[in-house]
Amino acid sequence: MTGDAPTISSPPWTQLSPINSTNDSASIRTRTDCLTCVESRNPAEAAKSEDKLTYGCTFPTCTKRFQCIDKWERHENNKHFQLEAWRCSVWNADNHECARLFYHRSKYTEHLRDEHKFKKSETENPLKENRIGRNGQYQYWCGHCRKLVRLHNQGSDAWAERFEHIAQHEQDISDWLLPEGHRTKGEVAAGVCVGEGDGECIESLDLNLYIRE
Ligand SMILES: [Zn+2]
Ligand SMILES: [Zn+2]
Ligand SMILES: [Zn+2]
Ligand SMILES: [Zn+2]
Repeated sequence: MTGDAPTISSPPWTQLSPINSTNDSASIRTRTDCLTCVESRNPAEAAKSEDKLTYGCTFPTCTKRFQCIDKWERHENNKHFQLEAWRCSVWNADNHECARLFYHRSKYTEHLRDEHKFKKSETENPLKENRIGRNGQYQYWCGHCRKLVRLHNQGSDAWAERFEHIAQHEQDISDWLLPEGHRTKGEVAAGVCVGEGDGECIESLDLNLYIRE
């Protein structure tokens, strides 16, 4: 038996420690002392903070909102799953991004060739650049930046990087542009049809694609 202690790599959130121990440490929000959650234990305080539903679920057709970043993250982790997808970013003649989503590499390749008249050799770059990684890896759609954002980390760190990025926008989820079509979550909720594409309005996105079984 060797005396080596096993190397334990703890998840990133357990490694959070106060940045410094000066007097302003109270203002540093950590995952263990979320002020919203503390307030919510008091129903009167919870009612007052009704209007502070800051974090909205980013997944299409899900309208859940959360006061607390942890609950929002937990919700997206537990309720949704991002499949590998390709978002077509080719600009059409009518000066709009194509903005269609494909869940198979071959289907997107076909689309590039048939719809956009790409030669086989020209499909390589869009296949790489427009790929959304499975379960928040490689690259993800940010509806506030309104573009795909490349991740620096991998695994659960990549997922955390995505949450941090979206949270720092401090923007309402109704302004979130969906990856498919040309509507924001707010517009979808209000039933607005922007009449894009081939005269076809994407009224309802297939929620089943996003729900984890
Ligand atoms: Zn909380
Ligand atoms: Zn959701
Ligand atoms: Zn396209
Ligand atoms: Zn962004």
